[in-house]
Amino acid sequence: MDVDFAPEDLAFRDEVRAFLDTVPPHLRGVSRRELSKEGQLEWHRLLFKQGWVAPGWPVEHGGTGWTITQKYIWQEESAAYEVPIVLPFGVNMVAPVIYSFGSDEQKAKFLPRILSGEDWWCQGYSEPGSGSDLASVRMKAELTDDGKHYILNGQKTWTTLGQYADWIFCLVRTDPNAPKRQMGISFILVDMKTPGIEVKPIITIDGGHEVNDVFFADVKVPVENRIGEENQGWTYAKVLLSHERTGIAGVARSKKGVQRLKEIAAQELLDGEPLTQDKEWQKKIAQLQIDLTALEFTELRTLAAESAGKGPGPESSVLKISGSEIQQRLTELTMEAVGYYSNPFLGEEQLEGWNESPIGPDYALGSAPAYFNTRKTTIYGGSNEIQRNIIAKMILGL
Ligand SMILES: Cc1cc2nc3c(=O)[nH]c(=O)nc-3n(C[C@H](O)[C@H](O)[C@H](O)COP(=O)(O)OP(=O)(O)OC[C@H]3O[C@@H](n4cnc5c(N)ncnc54)[C@H](O)[C@@H]3O)c2cc1C
Repeated sequence: MDVDFAPEDLAFRDEVRAFLDTVPPHLRGVSRRELSKEGQLEWHRLLFKQGWVAPGWPVEHGGTGWTITQKYIWQEESAAYEVPIVLPFGVNMVAPVIYSFGSDEQKAKFLPRILSGEDWWCQGYSEPGSGSDLASVRMKAELTDDGKHYILNGQKTWTTLGQYADWIFCLVRTDPNAPKRQMGISFILVDMKTPGIEVKPIITIDGGHEVNDVFFADVKVPVENRIGEENQGWTYAKVLLSHERTGIAGVARSKKGVQRLKEIAAQELLDGEPLTQDKEWQKKIAQLQIDLTALEFTELRTLAAESAGKGPGPESSVLKISGSEIQQRLTELTMEAVGYYSNPFLGEEQLEGWNESPIGPDYALGSAPAYFNTRKTTIYGGSNEIQRNIIAKMILGL
C-alpha cells in the first residue's frame, strides 16, 4: 500500500532508516528462530541504546511516544530491513500487565530490566489439559502459614524459550473452591532460579528446540510477586492475551515475505517458463496479496483505535486468525515454488553457522523447517478455532 507521509513522518522514516543501516549484517535476514540467545540479546541491546525497545508502552515507563504513523513506519521499515522482532514475552506481554496492574515496587523493579533486556521472560499459561480451556489451570499456589510466600506445585507446558528465561509469569490456582473457575486464579511472577523448577525440552516437528515443559516442585515464591489482587489473575491474563494477539498479525513481515516469494517464483521454472507466468500461480499470489491488504487495513484500524486510547479488544482475534493463516500460506507457497529443493532438510542446529545450500539455490535453504514451524501459528496465542468462538460471541453477539 502506498502511503503519502507528512514531512515530519518522512523525516522520522529517514531517522529509522539511518538507524537500520547501522545494524550488523548477521542480525539481518534471519528469523527469530534462527538467532541464538546472544543474537537476540544483541538486537535487544541495540534497540535499547536507541530507546526503541517498547513503542507500545506509555512514555513514563520508557515507551517511545510514537504516533500511530510512526509505529506503522517502524513496522514497515524493520520488516523491509529484515531485522529480528523483539521477543514478546517481556516487552509486549508481561510489561503491560505490570504497568497496568502492578504495584509501584513491581514497576520499579521489573520494567527497567525488561527494557534493557537484562531479564528474559517466558509465559507460563498452558498446562497439559489446560490450553484452550485456560481457566482450568491446576498449578497450585498455597499460602504459607505466615502468609509471606506461596508454594507452587504443578506443570506448565509449551513454554517458549523457557530454557533461556530468568523469569516466568504464571497463572496459578489460589482458590480451588471458587464458585467460578476463573475466580480462583492468580497471576504470579517467578524467578526461574528458584529451587524446585525444572525445564525439559520439547523438540518440534522442524527439529528445533523452541518449547519446553516446566515442572514446579514446592517452589517458594514471595507474595510480593503476585500481581494485583489474589484470585483476580484471570482479569489481568485476558488483557495480556489481547496484546499477544495484536502482535501476532505480522503484516509488514508478511508483505516482505510476499515480495521474496515473487522473487523466488521469477527464478523458478515451470515447463521452461518462470513460475510467475503460470496462471494458477498468479491466482494464488493475487489472492494472498488481496487478503494481506485487507488484513493491513484491519490492523491500521486497530492501531488507530489504540492511539485513541482504546486497548486492543476482541478485534485482535480477527488479526490473529488472518495473520496466522497468511503466514502459513506464505511458507507453503515457498515450498511449492522451490519444489524438491526444499527436501534437503536442515534443522535448527545445522542451520546455525550454515552459509551455503547443499543442493539447489540458497533461497530454498530452510524452506521446509520454516513451513513446518509455521504450523504453530494457528495453535499458539489461542487456537484459531477459539478466536472464531470469541468473534462469534463478542463481535457478532451470537
Ligand atoms: C509452538 C508453540 C508455542 C507455544 N508457546 C506457549 C508459551 O510460551 N506459553 C504458554 O503458556 N503456552 C504456549 N503455547 C500453548 C498454546 O497456547 C496452546 O497450545 C493453545 O492454547 C492450544 O491449547 P492445547 O495445545 O492444549 O490444545 P487443545 O486446547 O487441547 O485443543 C485441541 C484442538 O481442539 C480445538 N478446540 C479446543 N476447544 C475448542 C472449543 N471450545 N471450540 C472449538 N475448538 C476447540 C483447538 O482449536 C485445537 O484444534 C504454545 C503452543 C505452541 C504450539
